[in-house]
Amino acid sequence: MACVVQKYGGSSVADVEKIRKVAEKVAATRRAGKDVCVVVSAMGDTTDELLALAKRVSPAPPRRELDMLLSAGERISMALLSMALNDLDVPAISFTGSQSGIITTDAHANARIVEVRPKRVHEELEKGKVVIVAGYQGVSTRKEVTTLGRGGSDTTAVALAAALGADCEIYSDVAGVFTADPRVVPSAGRLDALSYEEMQELAAAGAKVLNAQAVEFAKEKGIAIHARSTFGAADETVVRGGAHPERIAGVATRRELALLAFPAARLEDVLGLLERHGAVATELASPGEGAGVALDLENVHDWPVLRGRLAEAVPGLVAEDEAIGSVSVVGTGLSAGHRVLREVTGSLAALGARPRAVFTSALRVTVYCDAAVLKDAAREIHRRLIG
Ligand code: ADP
Ligand code: ASP
Ligand code: MG
Repeated sequence: MACVVQKYGGSSVADVEKIRKVAEKVAATRRAGKDVCVVVSAMGDTTDELLALAKRVSPAPPRRELDMLLSAGERISMALLSMALNDLDVPAISFTGSQSGIITTDAHANARIVEVRPKRVHEELEKGKVVIVAGYQGVSTRKEVTTLGRGGSDTTAVALAAALGADCEIYSDVAGVFTADPRVVPSAGRLDALSYEEMQELAAAGAKVLNAQAVEFAKEKGIAIHARSTFGAADETVVRGGAHPERIAGVATRRELALLAFPAARLEDVLGLLERHGAVATELASPGEGAGVALDLENVHDWPVLRGRLAEAVPGLVAEDEAIGSVSVVGTGLSAGHRVLREVTGSLAALGARPRAVFTSALRVTVYCDAAVLKDAAREIHRRLIG
């Protein structure tokens, strides 16, 4: 029987009414004759609230304990959705990531899926049940509960779809992937299709509608991702293999970043410390005597501690972390000339912001700048380059 994995994000299961509506959608798919595996995120802002709760108890909570706490959010929504489905006379059963056989590395707070052994999921699907899986979590080879980094439920969905040979549908509060965040840039338009490479760059640049690791997984396994709205129109964006004509795909922004500058000779020390704290350099440059690293702090929950250790271990290191943001343009053939970079720096200059660091590749132009101008910068850059 055809099998589909449907993932519903936090806003889609934010309250009891929405959980009931999602249950009705899932029930309709099941009644149409498909095997259905559902991946859920935590309700609404639960993950943010749990993080804030942890920080009230300890400024630098141990990453293992954080994962025990954060993984609880998805447990709540999986059980509630299963109850709602059973209420509709659709037999359903919920599983944690561990019970679903999501095996990960032991990098707490930012683990990667290394294998999926969905034995129990298979067994229950074969019995005709809808299986609800808690997204964003797994179990490490050392049998510890891990989480996959913010937005990681998308990765759970793609990994399960690959393991089950199922279609993959990701439902959120937007009708697919747009040329910019439609909440920030009203003129942004939906893209019908994107290549894996374009989507990976957009996600890494901050378009959180799909998670970057999820897209990487989809590319590796050759899975098409259908991004749709849960309660809105039936439009969608399909992310799959294949090239598009040269184009600018979109504009994306990130905040919560840090820029490190230090003597190039200390590169190894810096990278070692970052790794021990689960912090990943998004950009790295080492021209001559000096080196620079850009860090995304979204999954670094003990930054003040890490910053202190870096300062102690690497004399001369300068860390900028006050309101650092980045704005990126993603597309193909961007390195053919300087137009895109000039429009980005020109837009920032018009807003009185100076570029703090610049990164360019064939698929992406990223400029680091004051986070306060990001929304206006996205609108201006979109106006100049896309419309
Ligand atoms: P979910 O909780 O369902 O996983 P997310 O909040 O993670 O949903 O992602 C959806 C949000 O992503 C949208 O509400 C939108 O504001 C934001 N977003 C950012 N960039 C884009 C983009 N390029 N296209 C669509 N949505 C985007
Ligand atoms: N609940 C987690 C988060 O808020 C995972 C997810 O939503 O995908 O990041
Ligand atoms: Mg998300």
